[in-house]
Amino acid sequence: MMGPDVLIVGLGPAGAAAAEAAARAGVRVLAVDRRTEAGRPVQCAEFVPGMLDQELGALDTVTNQRIGRMETFLEDASGDATPDFKGRMIDRAAFDATLVARAVAAGAECRFGAPLRALDATGTATLADGTRLAPHIVVGADGPRSPCGRAIGSVNRELVETRQVRVRLLRPHDATDIFLSAEIPGGYAWLFPQGDEANLGIGANPAARARLKPLLDGLHARLADEGRVGRDVLGFTGGAIPVGGLVRLTGRLGEVPVLLAGDAGGLANPVTGAGIAAAVQTGRLAGRAATAWLAGAAAALDDYSEEVEEVFGPALVRALRRRRDLLARYAEGGPDRAALRRGWIAYPEYWAA
Ligand SMILES: Cc1cc2nc3c(=O)[nH]c(=O)nc-3n(C[C@H](O)[C@H](O)[C@H](O)COP(=O)(O)OP(=O)(O)OC[C@H]3O[C@@H](n4cnc5c(N)ncnc54)[C@H](O)[C@@H]3O)c2cc1C
Repeated sequence: MMGPDVLIVGLGPAGAAAAEAAARAGVRVLAVDRRTEAGRPVQCAEFVPGMLDQELGALDTVTNQRIGRMETFLEDASGDATPDFKGRMIDRAAFDATLVARAVAAGAECRFGAPLRALDATGTATLADGTRLAPHIVVGADGPRSPCGRAIGSVNRELVETRQVRVRLLRPHDATDIFLSAEIPGGYAWLFPQGDEANLGIGANPAARARLKPLLDGLHARLADEGRVGRDVLGFTGGAIPVGGLVRLTGRLGEVPVLLAGDAGGLANPVTGAGIAAAVQTGRLAGRAATAWLAGAAAALDDYSEEVEEVFGPALVRALRRRRDLLARYAEGGPDRAALRRGWIAYPEYWAA
């Protein structure tokens, strides 16, 4: 049986950041992903906030365009502008591949086409090709339906389902457009520009899954009628987003500790669904915590949980409260405009006590 010091499951932003951080500290890192290639297929609307520049630097090579503001469309009203909302639209596949390249350059072994099939009660991992691994510590960066999370009983219980199409963008645009409506329980629709194309998508509670396609088709037709986007669908994607907030981030399988990072740990924002920046940050922290633990710092695992809770907890708790308040309105006939405003980050009501 092979025994890497750190086994990382998943090579999205969280796993790649964890692999780089751990490899830099000089330990033996093996990172595996069931995908055959980094970042593909893309399952993302591809917006990252400006602050990720400070975290990572050198985002220019994967940036398609800059974002200068957010426009929020409440039911059929014209857009409300949020000027102080800067960021980038990235090529997500290139972004993920860049993070993996950094991990490899730091000395991590990164294997694609290598699904984890089982992680047993002793911490022994079995890959789909039968390879058995006995790591000293595991980082679960394996997304919203994390098998590592399941192995330690930390499961994302609330997910949002999404549907997204790629369309031609007929006029240059530098805003992320958000469409809020009582018709979209537990989510919203979006138009995010990518140069002369755009990601047009919708996310909602799983119970509304059957309504995603007709709602997205309706928005697409409306924007095409307005001359903003083309009628053809150039591509299609989807995926789940965890929206229940943090799960327990650490556990043990026998002697082997398991740390969860990114979506596996419930780090995506329950209101906006954004999770790339949090995945990079928590992946990096998990990689460092794993190496500190290997070096004998027994408290490193609890310190990891505490730091993540301290940094991300308040924003996640607020978002979760707003999401729950909004969903509760459906028992009384659905949210009105005031409730929708209180449930979205662009409005001061969201940030009020
Ligand atoms: C439609 C959509 C739009 C989104 N738009 C945005 C956005 O604009 N901005 C933003 O910040 N966030 C967005 N998100 C959320 C964002 O994509 C995630 O928060 C982010 O990808 C989390 O990174 P991660 O590394 O934790 O997980 P992931 O990127 O999901 O990576 C997990 C990896 O684990 C691998 N894996 C899973 N199971 C196994 C297994 N058994 N064996 C081996 N490997 C496995 C997967 O193949 C995957 O590569 C969006 C999500 C969706 C679905």
